[in-house]
Amino acid sequence: MIYDFLVVGCGIIGLTIAIEIKKTFGGKVCIIEKESTLGAHASGRNSGVLHAGIYYKPGTLKGQLSVEGNRQMREYCQERGIRQSRGKVIVTKNEKELEALRELKERALANGADVSNIDERELKEIEPYAKTVGLALYSPNTITIDPKEVLNKLLEDAKALGIEVAFDTKLTGLKGRDEAITSKGSMSFGLLVNAAGAYADKIAHMFGLGMQYTMVPYKGIYFRLKDEYAHMVRSNIYPVPDIRFPFLGVHFTRTPNGIVKIGPTAIPAFSKENYSFFDNIKKDELNEVLYCNAKKLLTDKNYMLLGIKEVSKYIPFLFYKEAKKLLPALKYSHIISYPSVGIRAQLFDKSKQELEMDFIVLKHDNSLHILNAVSPAFTSAITFAKYVTEFID
Ligand SMILES: Cc1cc2nc3c(=O)[nH]c(=O)nc-3n(C[C@H](O)[C@H](O)[C@H](O)COP(=O)(O)OP(=O)(O)OC[C@H]3O[C@@H](n4cnc5c(N)ncnc54)[C@H](O)[C@@H]3O)c2cc1C
Repeated sequence: MIYDFLVVGCGIIGLTIAIEIKKTFGGKVCIIEKESTLGAHASGRNSGVLHAGIYYKPGTLKGQLSVEGNRQMREYCQERGIRQSRGKVIVTKNEKELEALRELKERALANGADVSNIDERELKEIEPYAKTVGLALYSPNTITIDPKEVLNKLLEDAKALGIEVAFDTKLTGLKGRDEAITSKGSMSFGLLVNAAGAYADKIAHMFGLGMQYTMVPYKGIYFRLKDEYAHMVRSNIYPVPDIRFPFLGVHFTRTPNGIVKIGPTAIPAFSKENYSFFDNIKKDELNEVLYCNAKKLLTDKNYMLLGIKEVSKYIPFLFYKEAKKLLPALKYSHIISYPSVGIRAQLFDKSKQELEMDFIVLKHDNSLHILNAVSPAFTSAITFAKYVTEFID
């Protein structure tokens, strides 16, 4: 089979890029996906929050694309009848966090996001059970959706445009410069787009690109409020995060169907698809994970403290204590575990021994690679796809 464009990975990134490419260039477009179902990994296992452009350093790709990304994804959800719930507050736990809250507001305004400070009284009107010290930040454009609903609609759109989607088809290697070897046979391509999420590093390596990078997986575990206590959270309640790291801290998210999720954690995982404790551990991935975490733990005290804090959240009572800081009336008996676990694959640069914070796009010859499509990549996907398509000539 011969394709003008072969997209590897049918997550939110692969789907939106394939659609944008088809609309822009036409031609024969095919998405291959190693799993048999849609949303088996990050795109179907996330918090479903359309972030409003608050956290990201101005001038970064995240900062540049997130506000417009939020607007375009909200509009898409509206057009396609996808349910939404609205609003978010970021609360402080102590006076020391007011400085970081101010920094978040400055970043948000520089990115063009709509945010405002609210005081303790105003917070009580929006979220009666939440607590802040002095000020909180209010974001009206943070939206919650069901990510699987979005994926299903995008898959319908892709098929309607004539894009072929092949599930159960894994890219395993390359032959020459323009032939992909897959579990279902070989496929020739004009351009290969690597949107393989956690495995995007490995596919870039097949092309001899991004050899300094490896993906390090972090596990996101959730709890939820029992239904009878779901009224305690009306929208989204977030803490002030440590902005040196790409994780936002345990927060409360009200889904459009009224479930209040608490989480996720960012616990180092043993492998890229290690969703339950000792399941699906691959030796080569475990070695990489141990190597990168050990390097980082030994050289970065803050990373070590973060690691200790995150791993402690495996203990439900300690997880609960973290959540209670945002919602003082919360009782341990109000929460139960939530079945969905997600894994964030975060790009690690072995030459710098740093976690990469921004989206990274590599284009060389007849391949285009999306590395580090981390949060808020779901939010920004439609806008990001337009940005990426401009790399194609
Ligand atoms: C716990 C958690 C919470 C998050 N919360 C949010 C949020 O609230 N808002 C937000 O904007 N973002 C959030 N994110 C981030 C967001 O989910 C990701 O940025 C986004 O889903 C990445 O999409 P993707 O298409 O790159 O990856 P994926 O969804 O992982 O898709 C990649 C696909 O490639 C396939 N694949 C891999 N290798 C191959 C191969 N060799 N051959 C064929 N197919 C292959 C995989 O099976 C997979 O389906 C969260 C992520 C997690 C894990």
